[in-house]
Amino acid sequence: MKKIIVPLVLLFLALGLMSCQQAKYSDGVYTGTAKGKGGDLVVEVTVKDGDIDKAVLVSSHETEMISDMVITKILDAVNKEKSINIDAVSGASMTSEALVSALKDALRQAGGTDKIFAEDKKVVLSDKEEQLVQNYDVVIVGAGGAGLSAAVEAQAAGAKVVVLEKNPSVGGNTLVSGGGLNVPGSSQQKAKGIEDSVELFVKDTLKGGDFKGNEKLVRVFAQGALPASRWLTEDLGVRFMEDRVQQFGGHSVPRALVSKGNHGTELIKKLWERALGTGVVIKLETKAVELITDGGRVTGVKAVNAAGQDLTFNASRAVILATGGFGANVEMRKEYNSEYDERYMTTDLPSTTGDGIVMAEKVDAALTGMVYIQTYPTCNPVTGIISYVANSRFYGAILVNAEGRRFVEEMGRRDLISKEILAQTDSNAFLVWGQEIESAGNMNALHKDEYALMKSDDLIDSADTLKDLAEHFGVDAAQLEKTVEQYNGYVKDGKDEEFNRRGKLRTIAEGPFYMQRVIPSVHHTMGGLVINEKAQVLNESGQIIPGLYAAGEVTGGIHGTNRLGGNAVTDVVVFGRIAGQNAAK
Ligand SMILES: Cc1cc2nc3c(=O)[nH]c(=O)nc-3n(C[C@H](O)[C@H](O)[C@H](O)COP(=O)(O)OP(=O)(O)OC[C@H]3O[C@@H](n4cnc5c(N)ncnc54)[C@H](O)[C@@H]3O)c2cc1C
Repeated sequence: MKKIIVPLVLLFLALGLMSCQQAKYSDGVYTGTAKGKGGDLVVEVTVKDGDIDKAVLVSSHETEMISDMVITKILDAVNKEKSINIDAVSGASMTSEALVSALKDALRQAGGTDKIFAEDKKVVLSDKEEQLVQNYDVVIVGAGGAGLSAAVEAQAAGAKVVVLEKNPSVGGNTLVSGGGLNVPGSSQQKAKGIEDSVELFVKDTLKGGDFKGNEKLVRVFAQGALPASRWLTEDLGVRFMEDRVQQFGGHSVPRALVSKGNHGTELIKKLWERALGTGVVIKLETKAVELITDGGRVTGVKAVNAAGQDLTFNASRAVILATGGFGANVEMRKEYNSEYDERYMTTDLPSTTGDGIVMAEKVDAALTGMVYIQTYPTCNPVTGIISYVANSRFYGAILVNAEGRRFVEEMGRRDLISKEILAQTDSNAFLVWGQEIESAGNMNALHKDEYALMKSDDLIDSADTLKDLAEHFGVDAAQLEKTVEQYNGYVKDGKDEEFNRRGKLRTIAEGPFYMQRVIPSVHHTMGGLVINEKAQVLNESGQIIPGLYAAGEVTGGIHGTNRLGGNAVTDVVVFGRIAGQNAAK
């Protein structure tokens, strides 16, 4: 009997081993594609001996630093674990889902099925902390523009600094911003002979916010703009477009410097590199949930990370809140202003949920201006994301409705333009421009990925005649031609008789012409924590909350009812620096 059993067991073992080693996929090199946030994301997967040998990214149009951090992390894990059983990465879900879909697309060609993918080993991306309690001098919550500016300054002042960031990559909305910041007295303004001053900047900012802004803070902000821009360029090596000074709506003169590529990536990259290079510790996927207090003083932050660990970060000197606004938190929007409900999409990252405001309220911080929520008028009607191509408006494009008529001053305030767009047929509008404006702004070329994505969604088109474009989008063609003819007359006379448009007027006479459908989307929350000129957070009685600082969109009081274009990035750098310098003391 024993003689029979032994060979049988060996046979079963051999069969079991063979089935274990059975090839999951057919060998070869496969290309997979999926649609990401910015367009097609393409990967190449090499299958060897029936399993994943190597997965690499071929091309992506995702936001640069998000792709650096998230895509690299996922592909490293796939190559190590030979599995694509990966959950979406919270905070970069569209990019991570697109990446996994592209990998599946490639592996399906190699015989992969949903069953095989699901049976694969679960890949855990989160790293565990060894120490659940950690001690620093300064704890900063949020690695956007304000948080990183504060971190660089605090570390430079000798403090040991940690930055907690709930997303899997740094940057926040500052990263996806257009990177425009207002600076009166810049060398770019001087080269173009533009007369400007801190006083005029203060005046425009207060007026733009219906004089509801705190003048003391606005002065600190305006005075800090030129030194902040010098710090960025001379100290950190940030590059601005030398030939460009942009005039956003509500400003008397062109005064916005524009970061290289018209994106916030340049700013964030340089801040992040400096922070890491000088020893700042950055904890990604680590969400702050509560401020720790001791006798009325803020002494640290409780946080939870992606691995599910409860962490304590003690701050011997101070905590800085730099968590951004609450534009993506519909419930919070409705709590403070019922107008901005689910009907509105947002230009903001999904992580823009007002966490810092909620945490600080629990330690009695005062809030201001929470009712003031801003929409950006010219966004993508499918995603709600801001359209940079539509910034051709700043170079002369006009806004028309479905009846082919202009209805607003295109260089007016964002809130007014947004309201007017919503009052038009189907609550949307169309931007129209031609070669004179395209040559001046170069928006289609600068943002060619966005243009291609909008073209594929039929949101933008070009044609040799305005009539063709109007017919394509169902706009009254005869009226549009009349409107443009009349407008060109205003340009020749140097005065827009209908809406008194500010800025440089340019004709729309040379084809090809462009037309783009746009809608308003929630963009900025002006309200937030009350701070003083040192970026210290105040309570309802106007007293300083010891140990607590705040900077950036989490604060209120600077922009009044309405933030002017280019003023947020100036705000985050100026007050981020102030918060960092003071917190380190
Ligand atoms: C598409 C777009 C374009 C824009 N373009 C411009 C422009 O050209 N010029 C201009 O002046 N303004 C612009 N703005 C506005 C401007 O970018 C923002 O107001 C500004 O960047 C906010 O900076 P911040 O540092 O305060 O917040 P953010 O840059 O948003 O950073 C906040 C960070 O905090 C993190 N965080 C939040 N809660 C927590 C928590 N609980 N724990 C840990 N981390 C947390 C977030 O994940 C985020 O990374 C734009 C905004 C958008 C959305």
